[in-house]
Amino acid sequence: MKSIASELAYFLRGRARLNLKYLVYYCAFLAGVILLYAVLFRFLMWHLEGREFSLIAGIYWAITVMTTLGFGDITFHTDPGYVFAAVVTVTGVVFLLIILPFGLISLFLAPWIEHRLRYRPALELPPETSEHVLIFGLDAVTRTLIRKLENRRIPYAVVTPHADEVSRLEEHEGIRVVCGSPTDPRVLDSVRVAAARHVIANLSDPENINICLTVRALCDTPIAAMVSAADHGELLRLAGASQTIPLHKILGRYLATRATTQGAMAHVLDSFGSLQIAEIPVHGTPFSGQTLAAAQVRQRTGLAVIGLWQRGSFTTPTAATLLDDHALMVLAGTREQLDALEQLTGEQTLEDLVFILGHGRVGCAAATFLDRRPVPFILVDREENPACDEHVPVYGDATGRDLLRKAGLENAKGLIVTTNDDSTNIFLTLASRHTHPHARIVARANADENVPQLYAAGADFVVSNASVGASILLNVIESKTSVFLTEGIDVFRRLLPPRLADLTIANSQIRNKTGCSIVALEPPQGAAPLIMPPPETVLKSGMGMILIGSPEQEELFSRLYPKEG
Ligand code: ADP
Ligand code: ZN
Repeated sequence: MKSIASELAYFLRGRARLNLKYLVYYCAFLAGVILLYAVLFRFLMWHLEGREFSLIAGIYWAITVMTTLGFGDITFHTDPGYVFAAVVTVTGVVFLLIILPFGLISLFLAPWIEHRLRYRPALELPPETSEHVLIFGLDAVTRTLIRKLENRRIPYAVVTPHADEVSRLEEHEGIRVVCGSPTDPRVLDSVRVAAARHVIANLSDPENINICLTVRALCDTPIAAMVSAADHGELLRLAGASQTIPLHKILGRYLATRATTQGAMAHVLDSFGSLQIAEIPVHGTPFSGQTLAAAQVRQRTGLAVIGLWQRGSFTTPTAATLLDDHALMVLAGTREQLDALEQLTGEQTLEDLVFILGHGRVGCAAATFLDRRPVPFILVDREENPACDEHVPVYGDATGRDLLRKAGLENAKGLIVTTNDDSTNIFLTLASRHTHPHARIVARANADENVPQLYAAGADFVVSNASVGASILLNVIESKTSVFLTEGIDVFRRLLPPRLADLTIANSQIRNKTGCSIVALEPPQGAAPLIMPPPETVLKSGMGMILIGSPEQEELFSRLYPKEG
């Protein structure tokens, strides 16, 4: 079925599509000729032989004569009539029986056969290929990564052993593919692994280990390996992986930090040295309902609000921005400052309880994360998770009528929806939002295209597997240390460009020239970072800078201030 559809799709592309247009014009021309003959037929029959026929009978007569079927049930009996019938027969033979089949063969059949015969999957990359990214294992994450690589004009190739997949990927999705086994040294050689910029191993853990060992036997190209079971990370590194990415664990952590309303330390997403980046719901803090200026977050805790999430949209707040109860604050600060926030919110923190729907790898990682904080949670799954002997879920179908109610969903403050099926996630989000308008619902999108539906169903926050995974991989490929906040916003670290030394922040014009904002300055000798330094702060050589900005702004920064020395 798949191959018929893909063969048909051939006729809707490029030259074939243009030819299809000509075919439609030609059929319209034929229909016009038939209609003309039908009208002439009626006219001649009436004037030559005094017989009257309907237009339908005329069309029928023209078609039977033109196709040389001529049943003989309607015939002329006069010489001019015979001449007319002969002309119709001859034009029918020429237009319908010669030109039409000839056109179909030369415009469609022959190019299609030629295309089929000519197609050979690529078995190697050109010898001059270098600085390319080799991807083993194509899924939603690597597809999103490919889009990002294409936008940045970084060359790449996907290596797959499935020859039948190659033409579909190349022709339908425009993905560059080489056919061959990823663990065959000759194949790795023919895709120029030694000259590659990075290898992405995105198959199962054992296959990834095999890839790492094979690549390492040939060259030192860095390898980023996705890890399925977190405890395999060590083995992958032993096998030669330069970076291991436990995506499920990271996703679980992202979901968990955004679902709980408890204590500030439970929300740390990532850190740069002693500077922590945390995402905390406004709900449950004393700042709710106030403007950023009135809330005095900075004065009371030392923390800086560097961003605000509101149902999936990220904004950089100004003094007049309202801290809405449903919003999520992105904070930057030290552990002590987060502790100060915890003191402040401590008395107000409600008894937290998080429901986790789906105990797969992501759900299990979220549970482990909450367990360490500790935030109480209840897991729900219809099956046992053979990889986990730590958690005891409530068993049953979460979409069933009474299961969640009986498990005590009305006491839940937060809900993590993380099954592997997006429709189920949308259903669970909608149903829970309906019965629990005030719960904090965080959902996982397996495919990027379901993110808007999850927000529409009522999720407060959606974490997309594909974009988180692809952003992490891109960071690794571009050797950046950055925290991925959302598609389009990164927090990243740079050393102070020497030419900005001894200028004040205001005079450095960093914001005007690049659009990036300074989140913090890190003084050289490991002293506490200066968070959201005021414009009159003097930049000192050797300082680290933590900046926030879009990937384009970050690129502009790198271009204006290339690494010197
Ligand atoms: P991942 O490892 O990426 O988290 P999995 O496929 O391992 O994904 O996990 C998804 C989990 O969600 C599975 O354990 C599955 O049993 C569970 N699940 C899927 N649909 C439902 C449902 N309707 N009710 C309860 N659990 C579900
Ligand atoms: Zn578990």
